[in-house]
Amino acid sequence: MVIGIIGASISGLIAGKRLAEAGHDVTIIEKNRSLGGRLKTVALDDLTLDVGLTHFDVETNTFGSFVSDMESKGAIQKWTKEFSLFDGAELYDVDPNSDARQYYCGTAGLQDMAESMSRWVDIKSEEKAGGLTYIGPDRTRKRSWMINLTDVTVFECDAVIIATSAVDAYGVIQTAQNRTQTRKIIRHIDEVRYDGCFSLAATYENQGVPSWRGIECEHSSIRWISNESSKQNTDTAALVIQSTPDFYRKHAQKSEKEIQELLLEEASEIIGGWAHRPKSTYVENWKYFNAQNSIDEYFMELEMEDAPLALIGDYLGGSSLENAFVSGYNLAEYWIKKYSEVTV
Ligand SMILES: Cc1cc2nc3c(=O)[nH]c(=O)nc-3n(C[C@H](O)[C@H](O)[C@H](O)COP(=O)(O)OP(=O)(O)OC[C@H]3O[C@@H](n4cnc5c(N)ncnc54)[C@H](O)[C@@H]3O)c2cc1C
Repeated sequence: MVIGIIGASISGLIAGKRLAEAGHDVTIIEKNRSLGGRLKTVALDDLTLDVGLTHFDVETNTFGSFVSDMESKGAIQKWTKEFSLFDGAELYDVDPNSDARQYYCGTAGLQDMAESMSRWVDIKSEEKAGGLTYIGPDRTRKRSWMINLTDVTVFECDAVIIATSAVDAYGVIQTAQNRTQTRKIIRHIDEVRYDGCFSLAATYENQGVPSWRGIECEHSSIRWISNESSKQNTDTAALVIQSTPDFYRKHAQKSEKEIQELLLEEASEIIGGWAHRPKSTYVENWKYFNAQNSIDEYFMELEMEDAPLALIGDYLGGSSLENAFVSGYNLAEYWIKKYSEVTV
């Protein structure tokens, strides 16, 4: 089959890789220039800082095999088994509630891992899918679907996978609403709500690398501080400071400068006054950081034999990186079996 996947983050990339390995002709359409979605790495002063997901752990064997493979290829590395804790008053070297599990990070940023997953498929980047047209069984055209791109071209395919946030999926799928059974799916995804988060990357001059890897923060406007310099061979301090969803809701309308000032002020109370004197900074506004009420299945599918369409992503089955991976992987395995007779 010719398969069009909308969205080049972990769920879309793993589904694309598995389906391409099984012989399908896969193209991923991504609206941004860079791949990875919420895996986003920025370069500041020759350092790489993850301003989206900074690290992850592993629960399932499916994800574990992938992580081992990526580790052997040098795209990711073991980072730490322990983080520190700020409980609103004290900073503890080791989080007393931690169960000492293995945490992983990228060797050159997690976006690089996403880029490395893209070599099995064709990628159309900087192309936004604006809508879908179902051609129907009496078609004169060869393919069942047209993905309408916002540069007014179309991508024709036999099957579509939407691998975006629920909000973006809603925007794409509602354009096909009256022609297909998409209404059922729309009702479900319309209920998914997201928390937002500000992520501030900061590098420091003449400031040694802190001994801790990351700090989980409680009773604070900050939820997490990542010591990004501890992931790489450097003696320059580099941090990523992530806000709580409450902070995001309260300050969503403020300027980047104001957000930066508030987060640096709070960080300096946790780790010391040096945090307030960065050399370079970058602020990312994550409107869709974390799905609140996820859907209790790993993927959703339209049951149209002549025109397969499915939704994958982290809001299906949970709200983590691992969920996003398992969502894409499980759909791919299911389609490989289901459509094996049409595999070329
Ligand atoms: C700051 C932050 C911290 C996080 N921390 C953790 C953590 O500690 N642990 C954890 O497990 N998870 C964490 N996450 C969540 C994790 O990053 C996500 O669960 C995972 O990356 C989601 O992957 P996804 O495949 O669902 O898609 P996404 O990453 O949401 O990517 C969707 C892609 O679709 C593209 N797209 C959207 N609409 C269109 C369109 N119309 N046309 C073309 N392309 C489109 C987007 O540009 C994007 O590339 C964090 C996320 C953030 C932002």
